[in-house]
Amino acid sequence: MIRRLLCLSLICFPAVLNLGRAQSGSALPPYKNPNLPVEQRVQDLLSRMTLQEKVAMLSGADWMQSVPNERLGIPSIKMADGPIGIRSWDGPSSETKKAEGEKKVATTSFPAGVAMAATWDTELVRGEGQAIGQEMKALGRDMILGPTVNINRTPLWGRNFEGYGEDPYLTSRLAVAYIKGVQSEGVIATVKHFAANNQEFERHRIDALVGERALQEIYFPAFKAAVQEAGVWSVMSAYNKLNGVYCAEDSALLRDVLQKQWGFKGFVVSDWGSTYSTAATVNAGMDLEMPGGDAMKNWIKEPAQQKVGNGAGWLVPEKVLPEISVGKISTSTIDENVGRILRIIFVSGQFDEPHTAIGEIDTPAQRSLARKAAAESIVLLKNAGDLLPLDASKIQSLAVIGPNAAVARTGGGGSSLVVPKYSVTPLQGIQARAGQRVQIRYAPGALMEGEDPGKNNEKDTPEARAQLRNEAVKAAANADAAIIVVGRSSKLESEDFDIKSLDLPAGQDDLIDAVAKVNRHTIVVINAGGPVIMSNWIAQVPAIVDMWYGGQEGGNAIADVLFGEVNPSGKLPVSFVKEWNDSPAYGHYPGENLRVEYAEGIYVGYRYFDKKKVEPLFPFGYGLSYTKFDYSALKISPEEASPGEPVKVSLQVRNIGSRAGAEVVELYVHDGHSSVDRPVQELKAFDRVSLAPGESKDVQFTLDRSALAFYSTAKKDWLVEPGRFDVLVGSSSRDIRMKSSFVLKL
Ligand code: BGC
Repeated sequence: MIRRLLCLSLICFPAVLNLGRAQSGSALPPYKNPNLPVEQRVQDLLSRMTLQEKVAMLSGADWMQSVPNERLGIPSIKMADGPIGIRSWDGPSSETKKAEGEKKVATTSFPAGVAMAATWDTELVRGEGQAIGQEMKALGRDMILGPTVNINRTPLWGRNFEGYGEDPYLTSRLAVAYIKGVQSEGVIATVKHFAANNQEFERHRIDALVGERALQEIYFPAFKAAVQEAGVWSVMSAYNKLNGVYCAEDSALLRDVLQKQWGFKGFVVSDWGSTYSTAATVNAGMDLEMPGGDAMKNWIKEPAQQKVGNGAGWLVPEKVLPEISVGKISTSTIDENVGRILRIIFVSGQFDEPHTAIGEIDTPAQRSLARKAAAESIVLLKNAGDLLPLDASKIQSLAVIGPNAAVARTGGGGSSLVVPKYSVTPLQGIQARAGQRVQIRYAPGALMEGEDPGKNNEKDTPEARAQLRNEAVKAAANADAAIIVVGRSSKLESEDFDIKSLDLPAGQDDLIDAVAKVNRHTIVVINAGGPVIMSNWIAQVPAIVDMWYGGQEGGNAIADVLFGEVNPSGKLPVSFVKEWNDSPAYGHYPGENLRVEYAEGIYVGYRYFDKKKVEPLFPFGYGLSYTKFDYSALKISPEEASPGEPVKVSLQVRNIGSRAGAEVVELYVHDGHSSVDRPVQELKAFDRVSLAPGESKDVQFTLDRSALAFYSTAKKDWLVEPGRFDVLVGSSSRDIRMKSSFVLKL
């Protein structure tokens, strides 16, 4: 255990091995001796394996496990989906269940990735990773398939809810935190999907045409940070092609960038069905093909899989061995690839201390972490006339309305969906928080698009819809306030397909409009994985709160915020557009003839809105609070910095309201003198500060070279040019409170 805790990253592993158990290694073969350096163990083990045994390790044993080797005692790596918690064995993971013979398991459902990003709380995300690591161990699993760090390029991507938003810096900080948390438990984290997997539309066939600078500045940073700062043990290659080559066989991507430039020492796992060749894939350094065995063979035969273009079964021994014999794959390449898998089996501690139910699930600590995360993630978007927070002692009656009010929509659909032991709906949370005295009138008001209209042979007709809406209007008419919970479902926002439209699903706009007409105190709660169009009703509604997909505790968390038990502190990790046409990717999505050109280049998210002077509905980094914060005393030192000299930025933040609250302080850098076109501003630091009423705190940041650099396609390297840099500090990307500058000397 001591060794595990110390060995959080690959960076440290050779040095710590003498700290292992006081077991004498002399009688053991070197690879079994935990006191020897990992590299020695890997080489020793490779030398004892036959070629057939090595090749057998290149593809999976079944849906979620790698191939073990009983003769030599190499354990199988047992995987489970993430990243928002551990995907349950049952239901959509039935393949896992078949393979394991396990009973259904339920695990803690954390808020979606985008919600975790809205907390801007790296310590919280580290804690989430650690809790997931502990639950993985409790289930005897070794490798979580997360985090997802693909950037939100278009608000229509079906998997935006899984990732950390549109900004590479914020995404990197959170990815590093999550991975460190997971791996501190000796569980392998898998950063995915490498690279440029930014849409579901034709995800198996699409060719993402992305310029070098956009890759380096926008799409790569979180993967690079995962490798270099968190020492991630596994990387998942993406389904799509990148600039003409399938990611799983892209040697420039996997060998040159990942291994050589970034120094990645772990192994690459394919996405499930993302391989299309044998020699090219092995030679590119794509180490482990998943799934494998009969599970793969049965799955790939399904017409649906063939239709979407899933590729699998290319690294099975029947295909790899002949390629070796004709010289298309060398045995040293096999050693390298297998060696990378073995290295992680040793480094993670799995070889010496297998994970056999040594953790706990659904502990009080995990529940309260899920609740804290959900509460911190909630973003207050509008609060005209300080309608919120509601005062339970002054309210007699509340209408709770909407297709998402009495259903716990904990996450988006697909491989990340977790089945928790329990989940709390907004209605339940509100009922519990409002107390017995407040009369709650519930009415769904609208059916969720795509869902069965109901048990009583109800029909989804225009008349039925009008009746549902009228019931809601009646409930709202005489209530002290109306809370309408709208949004999407895991059937409308999911892996496998993109979102059809940014409009709220059918009937929801009309519902809000009708309710807002009869109740001046209407509060709209958005329960979805990203932006929705609000133009039809935003002016009529005084309060809007975004609860994202909040995991199992989402219902309690939204109630905590609505009633002021928690002061909202979430900030948007993604810009909210007014209309889809405003999006940077509009006109360049989903591509033509299976090619999608990332024509906006580095101008993704706020970088685009700033440059093109497009007004977003709500900007990146935006979020209100029930209190107010004052910024002062911005200092930069030195005012003239030598190359390589870190620049220190300090300021004071004060809570000038009457409630305790937390403020996320955001720091952006503007380079006004560059030889290339640069964004108007880029996020380069942030901090979350909790403040009691009247309290003030000092906030300090250090800007290093990476905060000033851009990627030069001419030099094929990161470049910092001397000159003046502006430092902008504020409460959102469009609420800059203070500005100063420093000069970087030649
Ligand atoms: C997803 C991955 C997931 C894998 C295994 C794929 O369809 O893209 O994110 O980890 O399935 O379930």
